Amino acid sequence: MNKEFICILCPRGCRITVDESGKISGNFCARGIKYVQTEMSEPKRTLTSTVRTVFEEMPRVSVKTSEPILKEKIFEVMSLLDDVLIEKPMSMGDKVLINVLGTGIDIVLTRSIMK
Ligand code: SF4
Repeated sequence: MNKEFICILCPRGCRITVDESGKISGNFCARGIKYVQTEMSEPKRTLTSTVRTVFEEMPRVSVKTSEPILKEKIFEVMSLLDDVLIEKPMSMGDKVLINVLGTGIDIVLTRSIMK
């Protein structure tokens, strides 16, 4: 049975098919092949979420993974984010968690928290 993917690496959004023999078609460029191979073996996503702060004017602040993370790890990372409480002003890009779950990937702020 064929498997279908939409490549999300650029706005073209190629619909890529992998047939039963493993032949890949529908990709406009080579990046699509790599994308599909990764999706089939170890799919990854950038995780975006929020964490709590002590600041009344901004009780939650948005964060994301510094790189795409294995999909299978996402719920575990979300659970770790529940325990994060930011208690001091920080800047966009600052690390909230480092090397989360030993993946080498950090959780970073996507906006600043000022006094
Ligand atoms: S296969 Fe290439 S052209 Fe098509 S969506 Fe992916 S990156 Fe873009």
